[in-house]
Amino acid sequence: MSNSLSDRLQMFVRRATGRGRLTEKDVEEMMREVRLSLLEADVNFKIVKEFTNNVKEQALGEKILNGLNPGQQVVKIVHDELKRVMGEESVGLNYANTGLSTFMTIGLQGSGKTTAIGKMGLYIRKKDKKKVMLVAADVYRPAAIDQLVTIGKGLGIHVYEEGIKDARVIVKNGLKYAKDNNYDVVIVDTAGRLTIDEDMMQELKDVKEILKPNEVLLTVDAMMGQEAANVAKSFHDQIGATGVILTKMDGDTRGGAALSIREISQIPIKFASSGEKMDSLEAFHPERMASRILG
Ligand code: GDP
Repeated sequence: MSNSLSDRLQMFVRRATGRGRLTEKDVEEMMREVRLSLLEADVNFKIVKEFTNNVKEQALGEKILNGLNPGQQVVKIVHDELKRVMGEESVGLNYANTGLSTFMTIGLQGSGKTTAIGKMGLYIRKKDKKKVMLVAADVYRPAAIDQLVTIGKGLGIHVYEEGIKDARVIVKNGLKYAKDNNYDVVIVDTAGRLTIDEDMMQELKDVKEILKPNEVLLTVDAMMGQEAANVAKSFHDQIGATGVILTKMDGDTRGGAALSIREISQIPIKFASSGEKMDSLEAFHPERMASRILG
């Protein structure tokens, strides 16, 4: 569809201005545009339905139809509701009050987890001014360890690795190393698989038990659309995540995944990651995402 949702809604704004009021039918038609637009952004249809009902109720309930710029007000309600669903401003990382902070990253293979860890390392060092170390404990994909080591070298960030062995042992040893060497933060890379399976979940639970992480960050590929929300929910139900890193935001995705994830699993989205450049990790801004979804 060529026009963005904002453009399409503007048509109603103009119509209402011309007439001096907005009818209930206008609101229905506006909601149809919103519904189509969210479905195009690959938001789950149940969420879309709930969302539009909610907006409609507010639009009619506020008796704005005869007020000043009624069309404009409906657009504002859509925008505010998008922001509300996606959560408030990004909350930042949760560090330990004293001593070593431990972050664990989880996610499906290919979701951009390894890349995101490198970006986080740089972000934590540059923005939060902390001494950070990475731990290579994705022992199922041998290339994952090499990939993390290469990323670490490129950034000048130490990667603790012991090759392929029990991830629990690597994590224990890595923790000791980090404490002995006065690091502020460790970020642990964990097993990724193409799909969720029980062995992986068990290993993640064990690692979590050992690490007692301050953050469990789930990487989710934004290009997966609404399926991203189901993956996030499975991980969250079994492991418990404290935040989502939405990856591959540079794709042509409209970002419907962000809305679905928040609505289905309630995990706050903390970061948006785009591209392969290491400095492309950004705190998540619901405002920007709302505008992106609105197109
Ligand atoms: P992992 O298997 O979850 O560790 O994923 P990787 O970090 O290895 O990334 C999988 C693929 O996605 C690689 O080809 C990355 O270069 C690519 N990738 C990772 N993050 C991004 C991103 O933000 N944008 C794009 N376009 N590609 C990405």
